[in-house]
Parts: sequence; C-alpha cells; structure tokens
Amino acid sequence: MLCVGCGEQAYTRQGFLLDTVVRITLYDQDDETMDACFALIAECEAALSRTDPESELAQLNARLIDTVSDETAELIADALAIAALTDGAFDPTVGRLCDLWNFSAVSPTLPDAGEIADALVSVGYDGVHLDGSRVWFDNSQTMLDLGAIAKGEIADRVCVLLRERGVERAIINLGGNVVVLGGTEEDPYRVGVQDPASPTGNSLLSLAVTDATVVTSGIYNRGFTVDGQYYHHILDPHTGYPVENTLASVTIIGPSSRQADALSTACMVLGETDAMALIEATEGVDAILITRLGEVLFSAGVKEKYDVQFLREEGSD
Ligand code: AMP
Ligand code: MG
Repeated sequence: MLCVGCGEQAYTRQGFLLDTVVRITLYDQDDETMDACFALIAECEAALSRTDPESELAQLNARLIDTVSDETAELIADALAIAALTDGAFDPTVGRLCDLWNFSAVSPTLPDAGEIADALVSVGYDGVHLDGSRVWFDNSQTMLDLGAIAKGEIADRVCVLLRERGVERAIINLGGNVVVLGGTEEDPYRVGVQDPASPTGNSLLSLAVTDATVVTSGIYNRGFTVDGQYYHHILDPHTGYPVENTLASVTIIGPSSRQADALSTACMVLGETDAMALIEATEGVDAILITRLGEVLFSAGVKEKYDVQFLREEGSD
C-alpha cells in the first residue's frame, strides 16, 4: 500500500519484521524515537509470533504456559469478541489449519483433505476461555493464530508510543497495515489501495485521510497455485479451505488499526453482502470492497468523508 505524506521533509526507516516490510516515517530526524518504535515492534513480535517457539503465543499453544501478559490477554479477548460478532468468519483458533496450509513455506503444498478435516475439529472460538490473563481451551489441539489482528494491534501500540513522545505527524506502515498520525484537511495523507489484479505497489485508487488507519486484506497477499487452482491465505474457518467468494480485497478505514485489521479479514470471509452489512452496522468504520472482476464497492461513508481518486480506470483490466 502506497502512502504519501504531507509536504514536510520526511524521515523514513524500513526493516523486515512481523514477516513483512515495516516502514515508519517521521517528520523529525529523531533516531531515538525511531529506535523505540522498532524495539517495540520487535518486542511485540517476540510475544505474538507463531514461528518463534519461545514466543508467549507459541508457549500457550504448546500448553507450556497458561497465563499470558495483560496485553496479550486483552488482544485474545478482543479477537474472541470479533469472532463472536462475525459468527466465526474471523476466528483466531485457525492455528492448526494455518500450520497445515503453511503459506509462508518456500514451496507450500496442498494439504490432505483428511488432515484438514482433522484440524477443523480444533477450530472454534467458543472453545477458548479467559479469566483475567489465564487462558484455557476445551480442545487440547486448539491453537491460536493472531495473524489477522496482530499487525493492527502493533500499529496501534506504535501510535500510542509516538503520541506519548509528543510526535504529531507520522506514518506507520506494517506491510500495508497503515496508520497515519496527524495531517489536516488542507494537507492530508494520501493512502493508496492496492489493485488486486496488479503487481504489489500498484494502487487502484487513493484516499485522503488524517488521523486514521487504512488496512487491507486481500487474496493476493500470500498464496500458491496447484494444477491451475489458486489457494490464498484467508481461510474459511467453517470449511478449512481458502474462502471462495467474489471478493479480491477488503480495505477498512477507521480509528483503530486492531479493529480494522480484524474486520478486513472477517469481511473477506463474509463476502460482499454480509461484509457491507457488518461495516454499515459498525460505528466509525468504512470499507472499500474490490471484487475479483475489478468492481469497487464503497460503504456509505467513504465518498462522504474521504477524497477518493481512481489511479486506474474503474473496472479496467
Ligand atoms: P490478514 O492478512 O489480516 O487478512 O490475515 C490473514 C492471516 O490471518 C493468515 O495468514 C492467517 O494467519 C490468519 N487467518 C486466516 N484466515 C483467518 C480467519 N478466517 N480468521 C482469523 N485469522 C485468519
Ligand atoms: Mg486482518
């Protein structure tokens, strides 16, 4: 997702964290603040990573611990609440399914149908319970995967850190999960929305935003092709397979990146009609849905609140 800041001199640092490109832009050359942002992201990754066996989440999934930090407990509680709100379209208990599909592998392979059926038994947000920061599971095989909400959460935490340090303007971009801090009506940020049909970095449209988050989930982010069939990383927790509907991507614009991250994934699973209904019923958030045919659908507030510019002809190939 492209993000163009306001007129002032920008100071950007980029790194590879959270299995993606992390880019932070400040408008002061403040290395100490930049260091603090990257240290915070590394600390969050150390707690929430699925691949690092030392992480709090991995240890919880291995049942080596049953009590997590207050921040992680709060994130799990919110993930479970969004799962309930979306009838399990978003479901953080897809861990075992994600392991089977292993979209991050160098050469992913199609999982066996029997293994998927087996893993599906461990999926179900209502089998996870919290009491304060203690977590327990009904099914010993259930594993949490917070990949659909963690980047948003971490972006929000970086934003808090920046505000505490008195930073008034900044762009936090965690692999396309964008938060812009500051900006004014006269001098907003322009955030690009990826064209799902084009290589990464090609925006279909851009919108002007101030003090907001813009988060996209798309089928193009991660996936592989076997025998002409494309398999992408957003799974339908009810079937165990990549979700098949008309949507190619969902972009959420709102105040909380954690919420926007979870909602963008949920909307991908819900499909056009239910996604739009959910967004219209959720206070303060808007959505841009792009279909596999290149059609662009806006929730009611988008054109009212944001200046949208098409960078390519709408609906073109
Ligand atoms: P996102 O890119 O935010 O849509 O998140 C996708 C990631 O979330 C995947 O790579 C999985 O780790 C995880 N995931 C996949 N499907 C779901 C789902 N239906 N609910 C919750 N997390 C999911
Ligand atoms: Mg998400």
